[in-house]
Amino acid sequence: MAWDIPLSDRVKNLKPSPTLAVDAKAKALKAQGIDIINLSAGEPDFDTPEHIKEAAIKAIKEGFTKYTPVGGIAELKDAIISKMSRHYDLEYAPEQVLVSTGGKQGLYNIIQAIVSPGDEVIVPVPYWVSYPAIIELAGGVPVFLPSEAADNFAIDMDRLAGLVTSKTRAMILNSPSNPTGAVYDTDTLKAVAALAVEKGFYILTDDIYDEIRFDGKNPENPASVMPDAKDHVIVANGVSKTYAMTGWRIGYTAGPAPVIKAATKIQSQSTSNANSIAQKAAAAALSGPQDCVSSMVKAFRERRDYIVERLNSMEGVKCPVPGGAFYVFPDMSSFIGKNAGDKTLTGSLEIADYLLEEAKIACVPGIAFGDDRFIRFSYATDIKIIEEGMNRLQEALGRLK
Ligand SMILES: *Cc1c(COP(=O)(O)O)cnc(C)c1O
Repeated sequence: MAWDIPLSDRVKNLKPSPTLAVDAKAKALKAQGIDIINLSAGEPDFDTPEHIKEAAIKAIKEGFTKYTPVGGIAELKDAIISKMSRHYDLEYAPEQVLVSTGGKQGLYNIIQAIVSPGDEVIVPVPYWVSYPAIIELAGGVPVFLPSEAADNFAIDMDRLAGLVTSKTRAMILNSPSNPTGAVYDTDTLKAVAALAVEKGFYILTDDIYDEIRFDGKNPENPASVMPDAKDHVIVANGVSKTYAMTGWRIGYTAGPAPVIKAATKIQSQSTSNANSIAQKAAAAALSGPQDCVSSMVKAFRERRDYIVERLNSMEGVKCPVPGGAFYVFPDMSSFIGKNAGDKTLTGSLEIADYLLEEAKIACVPGIAFGDDRFIRFSYATDIKIIEEGMNRLQEALGRLK
Protein backbone atom coordinates (compact mmCIF):
# COMPACT_ATOMS: atom_id res chain seq x y z
CA MET A 1 0.00 0.00 0.00
CA ALA A 2 1.21 3.44 -0.91
CA TRP A 3 1.48 4.65 2.68
CA ASP A 4 4.00 1.91 3.37
CA ILE A 5 6.45 3.67 1.07
CA PRO A 6 8.83 5.35 3.50
CA LEU A 7 9.24 9.10 3.86
CA SER A 8 12.73 10.56 3.69
CA ASP A 9 15.07 10.30 6.67
CA ARG A 10 15.37 14.06 6.41
CA VAL A 11 11.71 14.69 7.17
CA LYS A 12 11.52 11.85 9.69
CA ASN A 13 14.30 13.48 11.69
CA LEU A 14 12.66 16.92 11.51
CA LYS A 15 11.17 17.65 14.92
CA PRO A 16 7.60 18.88 14.99
CA SER A 17 7.30 22.32 16.55
CA PRO A 18 6.55 22.06 20.29
CA THR A 19 4.36 25.14 19.90
CA LEU A 20 1.95 23.24 17.71
CA ALA A 21 0.04 21.58 20.55
CA VAL A 22 -0.69 24.87 22.32
CA ASP A 23 -1.49 26.56 19.03
CA ALA A 24 -3.90 23.84 17.95
CA LYS A 25 -5.62 23.98 21.33
CA ALA A 26 -5.94 27.79 21.18
CA LYS A 27 -7.53 27.56 17.73
CA ALA A 28 -9.93 24.83 18.85
CA LEU A 29 -11.04 26.90 21.87
CA LYS A 30 -11.50 29.95 19.65
CA ALA A 31 -13.58 27.91 17.21
CA GLN A 32 -15.84 27.00 20.14
CA GLY A 33 -16.48 30.71 20.62
CA ILE A 34 -14.28 31.00 23.73
CA ASP A 35 -12.70 34.43 24.12
CA ILE A 36 -8.95 33.83 23.94
CA ILE A 37 -6.46 36.61 24.62
CA ASN A 38 -3.83 35.90 22.01
CA LEU A 39 -0.34 36.95 23.13
CA SER A 40 1.41 34.48 20.84
CA ALA A 41 1.52 36.41 17.55
CA GLY A 42 4.85 36.52 15.74
CA GLU A 43 3.90 39.45 13.54
CA PRO A 44 2.94 43.15 13.84
CA ASP A 45 -0.76 43.79 14.35
CA PHE A 46 -0.63 46.88 12.09
CA ASP A 47 -1.85 46.95 8.52
CA THR A 48 0.73 47.28 5.72
CA PRO A 49 1.05 51.05 5.04
CA GLU A 50 -1.07 52.41 2.19
CA HIS A 51 1.75 53.64 -0.08
CA ILE A 52 3.25 50.12 -0.06
CA LYS A 53 -0.06 48.54 -1.06
CA GLU A 54 -0.43 51.16 -3.82
CA ALA A 55 2.95 50.19 -5.28
CA ALA A 56 1.76 46.57 -5.53
CA ILE A 57 -1.53 47.57 -7.15
CA LYS A 58 0.39 49.67 -9.65
CA ALA A 59 2.69 46.73 -10.40
CA ILE A 60 -0.29 44.49 -11.14
CA LYS A 61 -1.98 47.11 -13.33
CA GLU A 62 1.25 47.66 -15.28
CA GLY A 63 1.56 43.93 -15.88
CA PHE A 64 4.63 43.44 -13.71
CA THR A 65 3.56 39.84 -13.25
CA LYS A 66 6.26 37.74 -14.92
CA TYR A 67 9.49 36.06 -13.85
CA THR A 68 12.16 38.43 -12.62
CA PRO A 69 15.89 37.73 -12.29
CA VAL A 70 16.34 34.98 -9.66
CA GLY A 71 18.23 37.27 -7.26
CA GLY A 72 15.67 40.08 -7.41
CA ILE A 73 14.86 43.20 -9.47
CA ALA A 74 17.45 45.97 -9.72
CA GLU A 75 15.08 48.52 -8.17
CA LEU A 76 14.69 46.45 -5.00
CA LYS A 77 18.39 45.55 -4.79
CA ASP A 78 19.20 49.27 -5.04
CA ALA A 79 16.74 50.03 -2.23
CA ILE A 80 18.35 47.32 -0.08
CA ILE A 81 21.85 48.59 -0.87
CA SER A 82 20.90 52.12 0.12
CA LYS A 83 19.27 50.93 3.35
CA MET A 84 22.49 49.08 4.23
CA SER A 85 24.47 52.22 3.52
CA ARG A 86 22.04 54.56 5.34
CA HIS A 87 21.69 52.48 8.51
CA TYR A 88 24.94 50.54 8.74
CA ASP A 89 27.38 52.53 6.64
CA LEU A 90 28.07 49.29 4.75
CA GLU A 91 28.45 49.23 0.97
CA TYR A 92 27.30 46.26 -1.12
CA ALA A 93 27.31 45.63 -4.89
CA PRO A 94 24.16 44.15 -6.51
CA GLU A 95 25.86 40.72 -6.85
CA GLN A 96 26.27 40.72 -3.06
CA VAL A 97 22.51 40.85 -2.49
CA LEU A 98 19.88 38.11 -2.88
CA VAL A 99 16.14 38.73 -2.61
CA SER A 100 14.19 35.73 -1.30
CA THR A 101 10.70 34.62 -0.35
CA GLY A 102 10.83 35.95 3.21
CA GLY A 103 13.68 36.31 5.64
CA LYS A 104 13.32 32.63 6.43
CA GLN A 105 14.15 31.49 2.90
CA GLY A 106 17.13 33.82 2.98
CA LEU A 107 18.47 32.04 6.07
CA TYR A 108 17.67 28.65 4.59
CA ASN A 109 19.54 29.39 1.33
CA ILE A 110 22.62 30.63 3.17
CA ILE A 111 22.78 27.58 5.44
CA GLN A 112 22.35 25.30 2.42
CA ALA A 113 25.18 27.18 0.72
CA ILE A 114 27.73 27.08 3.57
CA VAL A 115 26.97 23.96 5.66
CA SER A 116 27.97 20.42 4.67
CA PRO A 117 26.91 17.32 6.61
CA GLY A 118 28.71 17.25 9.97
CA ASP A 119 29.54 20.97 9.95
CA GLU A 120 28.72 22.86 13.13
CA VAL A 121 26.78 26.08 13.53
CA ILE A 122 26.78 27.85 16.90
CA VAL A 123 23.35 29.02 18.01
CA PRO A 124 22.82 31.18 21.12
CA VAL A 125 19.97 30.01 23.38
CA PRO A 126 17.19 31.07 23.52
CA TYR A 127 16.97 30.84 19.75
CA TRP A 128 14.37 31.46 17.09
CA VAL A 129 12.52 28.16 16.57
CA SER A 130 13.61 27.59 12.97
CA TYR A 131 17.41 27.87 13.34
CA PRO A 132 18.12 24.32 14.57
CA ALA A 133 15.78 22.77 11.98
CA ILE A 134 17.28 24.80 9.12
CA ILE A 135 20.78 23.69 10.16
CA GLU A 136 19.72 20.05 10.50
CA LEU A 137 18.04 20.07 7.08
CA ALA A 138 21.49 20.84 5.65
CA GLY A 139 22.97 17.92 7.61
CA GLY A 140 24.63 20.39 9.98
CA VAL A 141 24.87 20.18 13.75
CA PRO A 142 23.54 23.05 15.88
CA VAL A 143 25.86 23.73 18.82
CA PHE A 144 24.04 25.61 21.57
CA LEU A 145 25.42 28.52 23.57
CA PRO A 146 23.32 29.09 26.72
CA SER A 147 22.67 32.54 28.17
CA GLU A 148 21.04 33.92 31.31
CA ALA A 149 18.16 36.36 31.83
CA ALA A 150 20.12 37.93 34.70
CA ASP A 151 22.75 39.08 32.15
CA ASN A 152 20.03 40.15 29.70
CA PHE A 153 20.86 37.07 27.59
CA ALA A 154 24.34 38.39 26.81
CA ILE A 155 26.91 36.24 24.99
CA ASP A 156 29.52 34.75 27.28
CA MET A 157 32.65 35.16 25.13
CA ASP A 158 34.73 32.54 26.98
CA ARG A 159 32.00 30.00 26.61
CA LEU A 160 31.58 30.89 22.96
CA ALA A 161 35.32 30.53 22.25
CA GLY A 162 35.20 27.12 23.95
CA LEU A 163 32.57 25.90 21.47
CA VAL A 164 34.55 26.71 18.34
CA THR A 165 36.07 23.63 16.64
CA SER A 166 37.61 22.88 13.26
CA LYS A 167 34.07 22.03 12.09
CA THR A 168 32.54 25.38 13.05
CA ARG A 169 31.25 26.88 9.84
CA ALA A 170 29.08 29.67 11.23
CA MET A 171 27.43 31.30 14.20
CA ILE A 172 23.94 32.77 14.14
CA LEU A 173 23.23 36.11 15.82
CA ASN A 174 19.78 37.66 16.20
CA SER A 175 19.62 41.16 17.64
CA PRO A 176 17.06 42.39 18.62
CA SER A 177 16.14 38.82 19.45
CA ASN A 178 13.07 36.72 19.01
CA PRO A 179 12.10 35.55 21.67
CA THR A 180 13.92 37.74 24.23
CA GLY A 181 13.93 41.20 22.61
CA ALA A 182 17.54 41.54 23.82
CA VAL A 183 19.91 43.75 21.84
CA TYR A 184 23.63 42.90 21.85
CA ASP A 185 25.91 45.80 22.73
CA THR A 186 28.63 47.11 20.41
CA ASP A 187 31.46 45.46 22.34
CA THR A 188 29.82 42.04 22.06
CA LEU A 189 29.35 42.44 18.31
CA LYS A 190 33.00 43.48 17.98
CA ALA A 191 34.23 40.56 20.06
CA VAL A 192 32.19 38.04 18.07
CA ALA A 193 33.38 39.58 14.80
CA ALA A 194 37.02 39.36 15.95
CA LEU A 195 36.58 35.70 16.93
CA ALA A 196 35.01 34.87 13.55
CA VAL A 197 37.98 36.41 11.75
CA GLU A 198 40.51 34.71 14.04
CA LYS A 199 38.94 31.24 13.83
CA GLY A 200 37.64 31.49 10.26
CA PHE A 201 33.86 31.09 10.41
CA TYR A 202 30.89 33.09 9.16
CA ILE A 203 28.51 35.13 11.29
CA LEU A 204 24.99 34.88 9.97
CA THR A 205 23.35 37.92 11.50
CA ASP A 206 19.55 37.83 11.49
CA ASP A 207 18.71 41.54 11.55
CA ILE A 208 14.98 41.17 10.87
CA TYR A 209 14.07 43.35 13.92
CA ASP A 210 16.86 45.88 13.34
CA GLU A 211 14.60 48.92 13.10
CA ILE A 212 12.35 47.89 15.99
CA ARG A 213 14.61 49.06 18.80
CA PHE A 214 13.72 51.47 21.53
CA ASP A 215 16.94 53.38 22.16
CA GLY A 216 16.51 55.48 19.01
CA LYS A 217 19.94 54.38 17.76
CA ASN A 218 20.79 53.22 14.27
CA PRO A 219 20.98 49.44 14.00
CA GLU A 220 24.35 47.70 14.32
CA ASN A 221 25.69 44.32 13.27
CA PRO A 222 29.13 42.67 13.43
CA ALA A 223 30.14 44.10 10.02
CA SER A 224 29.10 47.66 10.82
CA VAL A 225 31.01 47.73 14.12
CA MET A 226 34.06 46.01 12.62
CA PRO A 227 34.36 46.72 8.88
CA ASP A 228 37.47 44.49 8.67
CA ALA A 229 35.23 41.53 9.46
CA LYS A 230 32.76 42.27 6.65
CA ASP A 231 33.85 39.24 4.58
CA HIS A 232 32.94 37.00 7.50
CA VAL A 233 29.46 38.45 7.93
CA ILE A 234 26.31 37.43 6.09
CA VAL A 235 23.31 39.64 6.76
CA ALA A 236 19.76 38.25 6.69
CA ASN A 237 16.94 40.76 6.80
CA GLY A 238 13.55 41.50 5.26
CA VAL A 239 10.54 43.76 5.23
CA SER A 240 8.17 41.48 7.19
CA LYS A 241 8.53 42.98 10.65
CA THR A 242 9.60 46.59 9.99
CA TYR A 243 6.79 47.32 7.53
CA ALA A 244 4.09 44.92 8.78
CA MET A 245 4.50 42.85 5.60
CA THR A 246 4.70 39.26 6.88
CA GLY A 247 2.30 37.91 4.24
CA TRP A 248 4.12 39.51 1.31
CA ARG A 249 7.12 37.20 1.75
CA ILE A 250 10.10 39.37 0.92
CA GLY A 251 13.45 38.94 2.65
CA TYR A 252 17.04 39.43 1.60
CA THR A 253 20.59 38.41 2.36
CA ALA A 254 23.80 40.36 1.76
CA GLY A 255 27.37 39.19 2.09
CA PRO A 256 30.50 38.01 0.28
CA ALA A 257 29.81 37.57 -3.46
CA PRO A 258 30.77 33.83 -3.60
CA VAL A 259 28.34 33.00 -0.77
CA ILE A 260 25.52 35.03 -2.31
CA LYS A 261 26.20 33.47 -5.70
CA ALA A 262 25.99 29.98 -4.16
CA ALA A 263 22.77 30.85 -2.29
CA THR A 264 21.30 32.24 -5.52
CA LYS A 265 22.09 28.93 -7.22
CA ILE A 266 20.15 27.08 -4.49
CA GLN A 267 17.22 29.44 -4.95
CA SER A 268 17.37 29.10 -8.75
CA GLN A 269 16.77 25.35 -8.44
CA SER A 270 14.06 25.57 -5.79
CA THR A 271 11.77 28.61 -5.95
CA SER A 272 13.33 31.01 -8.52
CA ASN A 273 12.57 34.69 -7.96
CA ALA A 274 10.47 36.05 -5.09
CA ASN A 275 7.01 37.30 -6.09
CA SER A 276 7.36 40.11 -8.65
CA ILE A 277 4.53 42.24 -7.22
CA ALA A 278 5.78 41.90 -3.65
CA GLN A 279 9.27 42.91 -4.82
CA LYS A 280 7.83 46.21 -6.11
CA ALA A 281 6.00 46.70 -2.81
CA ALA A 282 9.20 45.99 -0.83
CA ALA A 283 11.11 48.52 -2.94
CA ALA A 284 8.45 51.12 -2.11
CA ALA A 285 8.69 50.19 1.57
CA LEU A 286 12.47 50.60 1.71
CA SER A 287 12.73 53.74 -0.39
CA GLY A 288 9.47 55.50 0.52
CA PRO A 289 8.57 57.61 3.57
CA GLN A 290 9.74 56.03 6.85
CA ASP A 291 7.35 57.73 9.31
CA CYS A 292 5.19 54.55 9.29
CA VAL A 293 8.13 52.76 10.93
CA SER A 294 8.62 55.33 13.66
CA SER A 295 4.92 55.36 14.57
CA MET A 296 4.86 51.55 14.85
CA VAL A 297 8.02 51.57 16.96
CA LYS A 298 6.50 54.21 19.24
CA ALA A 299 3.40 52.05 19.78
CA PHE A 300 5.56 48.96 20.47
CA ARG A 301 7.57 50.94 22.99
CA GLU A 302 4.48 52.05 24.93
CA ARG A 303 3.22 48.49 25.02
CA ARG A 304 6.62 47.17 26.10
CA ASP A 305 6.75 49.61 28.99
CA TYR A 306 3.27 48.57 30.08
CA ILE A 307 3.70 44.79 29.82
CA VAL A 308 7.15 44.74 31.49
CA GLU A 309 5.84 46.76 34.42
CA ARG A 310 2.79 44.54 34.83
CA LEU A 311 4.86 41.34 34.65
CA ASN A 312 7.47 42.50 37.14
CA SER A 313 4.74 43.54 39.58
CA MET A 314 3.55 39.90 39.75
CA GLU A 315 5.03 37.75 42.47
CA GLY A 316 7.41 35.11 41.09
CA VAL A 317 7.71 36.66 37.61
CA LYS A 318 11.06 38.14 36.51
CA CYS A 319 11.03 39.96 33.20
CA PRO A 320 14.14 41.55 31.67
CA VAL A 321 13.46 44.79 29.79
CA PRO A 322 13.73 44.09 26.06
CA GLY A 323 15.56 46.63 23.90
CA GLY A 324 13.71 45.78 20.71
CA ALA A 325 11.38 43.49 18.70
CA PHE A 326 7.88 42.95 20.17
CA TYR A 327 8.27 40.12 22.65
CA VAL A 328 8.87 39.74 26.37
CA PHE A 329 10.47 36.60 27.75
CA PRO A 330 9.83 36.44 31.50
CA ASP A 331 11.43 33.84 33.75
CA MET A 332 8.58 31.73 35.13
CA SER A 333 10.75 29.11 36.82
CA SER A 334 9.34 29.90 40.26
CA PHE A 335 6.03 28.38 39.11
CA ILE A 336 7.58 25.09 38.01
CA GLY A 337 6.59 22.42 40.52
CA LYS A 338 3.44 24.29 41.59
CA ASN A 339 0.03 22.71 41.37
CA ALA A 340 -3.18 23.59 39.60
CA GLY A 341 -5.80 21.27 41.08
CA ASP A 342 -4.47 17.78 40.53
CA LYS A 343 -1.98 18.88 37.85
CA THR A 344 1.66 19.75 38.52
CA LEU A 345 3.33 22.32 36.29
CA THR A 346 6.52 20.52 35.31
CA GLY A 347 7.77 22.94 32.66
CA SER A 348 6.95 25.76 30.23
CA LEU A 349 4.66 23.59 28.11
CA GLU A 350 2.50 22.81 31.14
CA ILE A 351 2.51 26.48 32.21
CA ALA A 352 1.38 27.57 28.73
CA ASP A 353 -1.26 24.87 28.76
CA TYR A 354 -2.51 25.97 32.19
CA LEU A 355 -2.68 29.60 31.07
CA LEU A 356 -4.63 28.62 28.00
CA GLU A 357 -7.12 26.42 29.80
CA GLU A 358 -7.55 28.37 33.01
CA ALA A 359 -6.92 31.97 31.94
CA LYS A 360 -7.70 31.75 28.22
CA ILE A 361 -4.37 33.34 27.32
CA ALA A 362 -2.36 32.00 24.37
CA CYS A 363 1.43 32.30 24.68
CA VAL A 364 4.46 30.32 23.51
CA PRO A 365 6.33 28.02 25.93
CA GLY A 366 10.05 28.74 26.30
CA ILE A 367 10.97 25.16 25.44
CA ALA A 368 10.18 26.05 21.80
CA PHE A 369 13.16 28.43 21.98
CA GLY A 370 15.39 26.03 23.89
CA ASP A 371 14.80 27.22 27.48
CA ASP A 372 12.10 25.62 29.60
CA ARG A 373 12.16 28.26 32.34
CA PHE A 374 10.48 30.94 30.25
CA ILE A 375 7.28 31.93 28.46
CA ARG A 376 7.11 34.23 25.43
CA PHE A 377 4.38 36.85 25.28
CA SER A 378 4.03 38.97 22.15
CA TYR A 379 2.89 42.55 22.60
CA ALA A 380 2.11 43.03 18.91
CA THR A 381 -1.52 43.55 19.82
CA ASP A 382 -3.79 46.28 21.15
CA ILE A 383 -2.87 47.63 24.60
CA LYS A 384 -6.42 46.89 25.85
CA ILE A 385 -5.89 43.22 24.95
CA ILE A 386 -2.51 43.24 26.70
CA GLU A 387 -4.16 44.75 29.79
CA GLU A 388 -6.87 42.08 29.87
CA GLY A 389 -4.21 39.40 29.32
CA MET A 390 -2.12 40.67 32.24
CA ASN A 391 -5.19 40.81 34.51
CA ARG A 392 -6.00 37.22 33.66
CA LEU A 393 -2.37 36.14 34.07
CA GLN A 394 -2.07 37.73 37.51
CA GLU A 395 -5.25 36.06 38.66
CA ALA A 396 -4.30 32.63 37.26
CA LEU A 397 -0.77 32.69 38.72
CA GLY A 398 -2.21 33.70 42.09
CA ARG A 399 -4.31 30.57 42.13
CA LEU A 400 -1.32 28.19 41.85
CA LYS A 401 -0.36 26.31 44.99
C1 LIG B 1 9.93 36.70 11.57
C2 LIG B 1 11.34 36.27 11.65
C3 LIG B 1 12.13 36.00 10.51
C4 LIG B 1 11.70 36.03 9.07
O1 LIG B 1 10.44 36.18 8.77
P1 LIG B 1 9.88 36.11 7.29
O2 LIG B 1 8.41 36.19 7.54
O3 LIG B 1 10.31 34.85 6.67
O4 LIG B 1 10.40 37.31 6.56
C5 LIG B 1 13.46 35.68 10.68
N1 LIG B 1 14.01 35.63 11.89
C6 LIG B 1 13.31 35.87 13.00
C7 LIG B 1 14.01 35.81 14.30
C8 LIG B 1 11.96 36.20 12.94
O5 LIG B 1 11.27 36.41 14.07
